[in-house]
Amino acid sequence: MSYDNLTGRTAVVTGAASGMGEATARTLARSGARVALLARRTGRLTELAAKIAADGGTAAVVTVDVTDPDSVTAATARVHEIFGPASVVVNAAGVMLPNPILAARDDEWARMVDTNITGVLRVIRAFVTDLVTAADAGHPADLVNVSSIGAHVAFPDYAVYGATKAAITQLSAMLRTELGPRNVRVTNIEPGLTDTELGSHIDNPELTDQLDGMFIAIPALSADDVADLIAYTVSRPAHVNLRQIVVLPTKQA
Ligand code: NDP
Repeated sequence: MSYDNLTGRTAVVTGAASGMGEATARTLARSGARVALLARRTGRLTELAAKIAADGGTAAVVTVDVTDPDSVTAATARVHEIFGPASVVVNAAGVMLPNPILAARDDEWARMVDTNITGVLRVIRAFVTDLVTAADAGHPADLVNVSSIGAHVAFPDYAVYGATKAAITQLSAMLRTELGPRNVRVTNIEPGLTDTELGSHIDNPELTDQLDGMFIAIPALSADDVADLIAYTVSRPAHVNLRQIVVLPTKQA
């Protein structure tokens, strides 16, 4: 799927090395946007940029670690150097590291908080002025944050991950009160089970088996399903703000 009115817009997509970020970058590029591809794995981003170019789109590789403030500063400068200011920012970078709270995995807690919350804030800080400037010039401007159904639904052993996603859902709602009056749209998207690499970092075999079981029981969303919603959202007329999207596989309760 593609939408035909993103020509002239520059999109920054984090998490573009895989999953939803990668699919979103491809869909936005097919819809005419110039896309900056942000993640840590340069090789994956380079392959994606080549695919986008082969499809007739425009993309640039911008390697970044969102947990490192200096890396985000350098990436911001690189995006501006290549494409100028952004008018779409999609925060899809994230990690999910479940474990029982009694396992006391403060290494995982720190990584999730720093990637899923502070990393998102760093990217917002980097590009929010671009969004306000685009809106001031009468152009559509979009901040899209990928939260999760885990922001609302309680799963055992996913407490810290769910808490980081609840923070993003609330952050998005609060930012609308500041950015909506400036004509910058803020969209929070809460997907359910989606077939990506997200579960591959789990280091608890029981929880890996549990997640594998969910993928057997429930036909999951694809990353393209979520990308399509994001591209649809940012291609609406500028006064239309889809502010909260909950998207689940039909069979997921
Ligand atoms: P993936 O693991 O496929 O994608 C996550 C992306 O984040 C990767 O491209 C990864 O690239 C990037 N990333 C991770 N850490 C960093 C970092 N420190 N700096 C920069 N980039 C980073 O999973 P999904 O596509 O599923 O995840 C996208 C978002 O969707 C996440 O926020 C996730 O929480 C959320 N989500 C996922 C659901 C699912 O069922 N899959 C359901 C609900 C929400 P690299 O390693 O190269 O840096």
